Amino acid sequence: MPRDFLQGARDSYDVVVIGSGLGGLTAANTLARAGHGVLLLEQHYKLGGLATWFRRPGGHIFDVSLHGFPYGMVKSCRRYWSREIADSIVQLRGIRFDNPMFSLVTTYNREDFTRLLGSRFGVPAGTVAEFFDAARNMNFYDDQSTTTKQLFDRFFPGREDIVRLLMEPITYANGSTLEDPALTYGIVFSNFMSKGVFTFEGGTDRLIGLMEKELRAGGVDVRIRCEVDRIEVSGGRVRAVRVNGRRIKTSAVISNANLTGTIFGMVGADKFEPKFVEQARAVRLNNSSTQVYVAFKPGVVIDEDACGDLLFSSTAPAFRTDLLLSPNITSRTYSFYYPRTRPGRDRYLMVSSTNARYDDWAGLAREDYQQSKRSLIEGTLDAAEKYVPGIREKIDAVDCATPLTFQRYTKHLAGASFGTKFEGLAVSRGLPEQIAGLYHAGSVGIIMSGWLGALNYGVIVANDVDSFLMNHSSQTPVSNELSL
Ligand SMILES: Cc1cc2nc3c(=O)[nH]c(=O)nc-3n(C[C@H](O)[C@H](O)[C@H](O)COP(=O)(O)OP(=O)(O)OC[C@H]3O[C@@H](n4cnc5c(N)ncnc54)[C@H](O)[C@@H]3O)c2cc1C
Repeated sequence: MPRDFLQGARDSYDVVVIGSGLGGLTAANTLARAGHGVLLLEQHYKLGGLATWFRRPGGHIFDVSLHGFPYGMVKSCRRYWSREIADSIVQLRGIRFDNPMFSLVTTYNREDFTRLLGSRFGVPAGTVAEFFDAARNMNFYDDQSTTTKQLFDRFFPGREDIVRLLMEPITYANGSTLEDPALTYGIVFSNFMSKGVFTFEGGTDRLIGLMEKELRAGGVDVRIRCEVDRIEVSGGRVRAVRVNGRRIKTSAVISNANLTGTIFGMVGADKFEPKFVEQARAVRLNNSSTQVYVAFKPGVVIDEDACGDLLFSSTAPAFRTDLLLSPNITSRTYSFYYPRTRPGRDRYLMVSSTNARYDDWAGLAREDYQQSKRSLIEGTLDAAEKYVPGIREKIDAVDCATPLTFQRYTKHLAGASFGTKFEGLAVSRGLPEQIAGLYHAGSVGIIMSGWLGALNYGVIVANDVDSFLMNHSSQTPVSNELSL
């Protein structure tokens, strides 16, 4: 008999959250705090979505997406989670760049960038200040037709080196490109520049463990290995979800799953107005990633001065979007994890990440896929030799992930690392106007992705659902409505 992962679950809930990424977890927590009955359904065997980790023999724990986030996480975690979580957020001080144009170390905040842009790149202080202010003052209601490239051309014409300094980490942080709206750059860049780059002490496993504890304490019914096949809609309203062969009634669903998969997979195009379907079909997915995970043998010590915490390394002569996505890898972002990142442990690890296209991996025959993975690992070790001399002799465990890996574990179409491009935000926000009770809170539109963006989006959508449930219960008794 297969195990029943819904054993003891009720037949109806005020709200069902589909997916336990940071957006889904935070939405569930916020709604439970507001007094609603919440069911959280996750298809994977663990919570966290892309905020995840895995273990390898020898006591190694690899973090998949814990490379850096802005200071705003402290405030959001304190307010919407707990003091313990917020107090575990610490700054990464060694952010390094190494490419044919320049090599430097920075704390990656406004003060240090002002210094660097002046002394190293020769930009007048007034121009630097104006650029920072322009980036910081961007908001959603701004002109969305200006691209990031046009923004840079306005302040730093002809300066490819400065574009590289300003853009490379943001492309890595949210997949945005020079061709995307400047707004998507300005918001994320300014978030980082406010205080620098931060991480979670103790690793992703500790963070998700603390979040799960809080959810359960708050009464959220948390279920893993529960893949939702269908969100049932009739008469323009959400009625139920279908999961593991059961029908669970609800009047509100928040999907934390991929936006496109939610609309065309779980709900079905026929439930939306044709114009909306057209708009949803035009939403582009963001790119995916490859990663190489390296654990060093016990006793091996990595030189922090040479490697830093985050190292943006490239051999490409200039910064170009197509080069960043090419299977012929020239740019890698290395995260180095020191024992201080996981207090009480003595392990040193390195994760190399590169933006990648799903299509370059999806069509490969099995043997070619395995061969490409081996090449990915070997190419990364060759490149990392510059920073960790003799790296091959120092390795205890090595593994890699491709766009197919990300798709497999999170069900993100094409293994998208940061959800959808900017146009996805309007579609995500438009769902409840199409179907009463249908919401989406997951990576969309570049600014609502990444750890901070996804978490904050979870709060925003939970507040919408809270208002919906309040109105809904005052207008129509839930039990009558659901028995239709
Ligand atoms: C390689 C990589 C590195 C990254 N590095 C960083 C970084 O350094 N800093 C940063 O801020 N961000 C980083 N990110 C991005 C960040 O991890 C994500 O933007 C964020 O975690 C996404 O959260 P989310 O709420 O959108 O949900 P996701 O993490 O996308 O989770 C969605 C969840 O829904 C579940 N699901 C899907 N379909 C169903 C279904 N039918 N039924 C039930 N469950 C379902 C999935 O299993 C998954 O758990 C990185 C991403 C990648 C891929």
